[in-house]
Amino acid sequence: PPWPRQRQSHGHSQTASYSIDSSSSSSSSSPPPPHSHAKHSPSRTRHHNASRADGHDDVPYLAKQPLHPLSLADLVKHGRPPLSAEALLASARFTLSLLPIRLAHRIQALRNLPYIVVSNPNISKIYNNYQHSLSTLLPWQGRTISNLEDEIRFTEVLAELVQTHTDTIPILARGFLDCRKYISAAEVTRFLDEHLRARIGTRLVAEQHIALHFSSTPHFDPGASPTPCPEHPSYIGVIDTALRPATTIDSCGGYVADICELNYGVRPRWIIDGSPDTTFAFVPMHLEYIVTELLKNAFRATVENGMNREPIVITIAPEPATDAAAAHLNLPAESHGAFSAGAIAPLDDNAPGVTIRIRDRGGGINPSVLPHIWGYSFTTFSDADDDVPGAGSDDALHAIANSGNNGASTIAGLGYGLPLSRAYAEYFGGGIAVQSLYGWGTDVYLRLKGVGRIE
Ligand code: ADP
Ligand code: MG
Repeated sequence: PPWPRQRQSHGHSQTASYSIDSSSSSSSSSPPPPHSHAKHSPSRTRHHNASRADGHDDVPYLAKQPLHPLSLADLVKHGRPPLSAEALLASARFTLSLLPIRLAHRIQALRNLPYIVVSNPNISKIYNNYQHSLSTLLPWQGRTISNLEDEIRFTEVLAELVQTHTDTIPILARGFLDCRKYISAAEVTRFLDEHLRARIGTRLVAEQHIALHFSSTPHFDPGASPTPCPEHPSYIGVIDTALRPATTIDSCGGYVADICELNYGVRPRWIIDGSPDTTFAFVPMHLEYIVTELLKNAFRATVENGMNREPIVITIAPEPATDAAAAHLNLPAESHGAFSAGAIAPLDDNAPGVTIRIRDRGGGINPSVLPHIWGYSFTTFSDADDDVPGAGSDDALHAIANSGNNGASTIAGLGYGLPLSRAYAEYFGGGIAVQSLYGWGTDVYLRLKGVGRIE
């Protein structure tokens, strides 16, 4: 899953599985929503079945509704402390207004895959997860979430939704691997790019409301255990308005060094220079995911190139809130040439951001490999290490797809690290560019745009 793991928590990490105080919901006096399917056991419909028990299929209609483009500002707008009950209810209603349409778009996209692909057990598992999640939300449509009991029930539905979709990525990876005879790599890339990007937004919408629910719990639900929020005044839901990338890098670096020690018996070192005290408003889970993947790549290359004694150098540069900052980097806007791949998206407003350069002495990237590094499932990693570089390794992918842990404790091999990191970076207008100096090392520029001023 995009959420990398649960062990690193910057403040109150929202990545852990959510459990909502069940006593408050089961003792709730409010009647369940009409036609509630929220509690039914997952007797999931076979795919291509209707999403409602009465046989009516809501997907085509919902999938025709436009998607609301999501901004960080949208996500913080309901959550400014002190959070009132009305604001929490407004957040729930906002969340409900977005999610069914978003899920329906994904279901429609899955239906548009070749039938033989969507019939694959792994792909159809994902399809059924979406159908199931939509069926838990539909009963809420057309009614107003107007009291805190409803809000608690609705948050339970969201928590289940987030949980249901946690393992999507290794399952999809496995499914598309099974189906590679029936669908071209380009089609897979197109589908996954859209699907995984949409998934980022959908999870964020749900997790933001869940986080706001928890941050408000002490005010509304005296029986619930206190949340860690007062210790983390810089959080608004899942957004940290004073996120310090250097702290994230050190924490993720420690984790990746642990993996290296397990895999190779050595711990590469890293140093942070530039402006380590830079802070900006961003989603810590996303930064953790990206940094972990980029450090895995840098550490692996460093070790495999026998350069463990050379530290990975990470430079943090704050960006003033101007468009000119993008031009300063002087990186190609979109290039898949021999020496660079990736894109730095233009700034679309004046939110301050940060650029992080990760420089390793790992020998760079073979020019024959470079054009493929953004492809899903492309990897030069193999456990057996007897693969032709650049050929990708089905064995490694099989191993990880089967392990069901998204390669969380492996240094490489799923081949999703770069494309998914780029999807996260681009989600709010940032980007990733890779500059390889073959024979020497690699520079990766991660540019992130924060949310503008929060008042
Ligand atoms: P994975 O790490 O699972 O192989 P990624 O998407 O993270 O998948 O990376 C794809 C490929 O890009 C890697 O297999 C490797 O060949 C190449 N690569 C990425 N980063 C670096 C780096 N810093 N140095 C050398 N090669 C790299
Ligand atoms: Mg990787």
